[in-house]
Amino acid sequence: MSQTFPGDDADLIIRGGRIHTFDGTGDIAHALAVRDGVIVATDAAATRLHARNVLELDGRTAVPGINDAHLHAAWLGARWPHLFFSDTPPEEQPPGRLVSTTSERRSALRRAWRLLAEHGITSYTEPGIGPGEDAGETGCFGADMLETYGELHREGAQTSRVTLLRLFGTIDGESTLEDFAHGIRTPPPTHDPRWLAIPGVKIFADGIPPMATAWVEEPYADGTTGALLTRGGSDPLSAFQQMVELAASRGMQIAVHATGDRSIAEFLAVLERLSDAPAPAAPHYVVHGDLATPEQIARMRRVDAGFAVQPLIAAHTHSWAAAQLGEARIATAWPLAAMLASGALTTVTSDAPIASPDWRLGLDAALALLTDAGFIDDAATRHLLLRSMTVEAARQDGASDWKGSLEVGHVADLTIL
Ligand SMILES: [Zn+2]
Repeated sequence: MSQTFPGDDADLIIRGGRIHTFDGTGDIAHALAVRDGVIVATDAAATRLHARNVLELDGRTAVPGINDAHLHAAWLGARWPHLFFSDTPPEEQPPGRLVSTTSERRSALRRAWRLLAEHGITSYTEPGIGPGEDAGETGCFGADMLETYGELHREGAQTSRVTLLRLFGTIDGESTLEDFAHGIRTPPPTHDPRWLAIPGVKIFADGIPPMATAWVEEPYADGTTGALLTRGGSDPLSAFQQMVELAASRGMQIAVHATGDRSIAEFLAVLERLSDAPAPAAPHYVVHGDLATPEQIARMRRVDAGFAVQPLIAAHTHSWAAAQLGEARIATAWPLAAMLASGALTTVTSDAPIASPDWRLGLDAALALLTDAGFIDDAATRHLLLRSMTVEAARQDGASDWKGSLEVGHVADLTIL
């Protein structure tokens, strides 16, 4: 079905290949017309328009721009080409402080943006930048980095669209209720939300299963259960609950790093209690969700919240986590299949620079998790995974009305294969 938008000129026509629109109809378009970065017509209506430029796909396939819904771009740019899970031996991993000056911070972001553009990634979520990391080891997550983002944004230098979550504690570490409550009282800087949106906050609830720091119901082999990383209030749990409540009462999106079933349970319990709170700027979600149970996944869907998951990390840490949890429990870990089947918001992400930002590797790792769970590796399954990196990622951003699929009125962000 061809669609058109008022006005009869276009800046660009894209044609000559299969364009998966992901517009919900299952349609493939063969042409798009673009004006001011926005799709104004598709198919026959597009080719009828007069355009200054034409991009010939020459038979190639295009999909909506890949949106990596959990990727630390500043850190990735500062470390590149060294990833944590890579051929770089430990002694060659860049140590300590990575960026200190404005110029180093600018270079790190620009390097990341070039790299993402090379991989066809047009949007990402920078999950956790803020004053809690001002004294942080790497220099990649402090308030200075937020300023550098704003500076490059104002200069029009961005080549990736960014959703940024503020952080009022340390990355992968503790946060206090006092710092959090103080931090969210300061409103985030305002920018063009299509390029630099700051809809919410990141909270670290727990650690990771391989370190036995995920907060779990059933103890690890050594008898410990992991614990919450939140501090203040009368105890860690009340601190965590109050952080979620405070952010929710301000309509902020809340992304909670939670890998253990116990920390996911506590986040869910607050979200269920808050079902009457104002609708958030974008849906709340669990980051990682390694040990989410089927029952938790179903409840997460009922509160319109979801999961941002990293299949490449699952692939890299599987045996390490199995040593802590045992083979039986690890067999039910990383329940991507159940998440996708449930209809709960589910994004497949990289967590670069932990794993590679190459979404094709992430897609392969996701396919491995799905086929292990009984899915067939066919076009429908790959389609579902590509949707998790486009349509669903836009949903996580609260941006479904203007990105994530290729339709009239949406931005013309494409990845050409
Ligand atoms: Zn991360």
